Amino acid sequence: MTNRVVVAIDGPAGAGKSTIARRVAGKLGFVYIDSGAMYRAVALKAMRGGTGLSDAAGLEELARGARIEFEPGGSRVLLDGEDVSAAIRAPEISPAASKVSVFSGVRRALVEQQRQMGAVASVVMEGRDIGSVVFPDAEVKIYLDAEPAVRAARRVLEMEGKGQTLDAGEVEREIRERDRRDSTRADSPLVRAPDAVYVDTTAMGPDEVERVILEIVRQRL
Ligand code: C5P
Repeated sequence: MTNRVVVAIDGPAGAGKSTIARRVAGKLGFVYIDSGAMYRAVALKAMRGGTGLSDAAGLEELARGARIEFEPGGSRVLLDGEDVSAAIRAPEISPAASKVSVFSGVRRALVEQQRQMGAVASVVMEGRDIGSVVFPDAEVKIYLDAEPAVRAARRVLEMEGKGQTLDAGEVEREIRERDRRDSTRADSPLVRAPDAVYVDTTAMGPDEVERVILEIVRQRL
């Protein structure tokens, strides 16, 4: 396919990437891919199977062997055929995903799969390194940001909707710690690609963010 398009959305934890990427993909008729879900699935598989979160070789092997699939629409994530959509969102998986994602072997395995997904369809892919590493030639690159306290409040609200009560201060600490690890790792750290459009969503609702992003996409294409 020659006219496939990649819209890359990167940014720190809880900036609203998933919500917006899913909506934008729906509007454009593109495939939505949540790359973070793949790191989460590897972390889940490691925790279930007893692979240590600092065992680089074990984690790489595990990442290579994991069959991670997205159902159309991006609503369900399958790990080796099992629906793990809820399990990968458990609060303890967030820091675990961040820990496994520092290893180059894990990243290589998942980036390969992400590139394959982008080679067969137009995609909106969100993560930390999509515009900088996975698709450096992406047609559209966006860096979505918001103040940490606002990102934490959004996460608390999202989890409330799923029947879980979280402490906002605790969530903000976890988010800051994850951002620190994600931005300071040696391989593919979270960075704002020089050609990414910066969107600060601190004072915006999802409808407005969606409108802004769709406008950026239209201008770029
Ligand atoms: O986006 P999400 O919060 O689900 O990502 C979970 C973790 O996976 C991140 O904190 C980060 O460590 C890792 N990740 C990554 N590269 C990506 C997407 C996620 O390292 N492209």
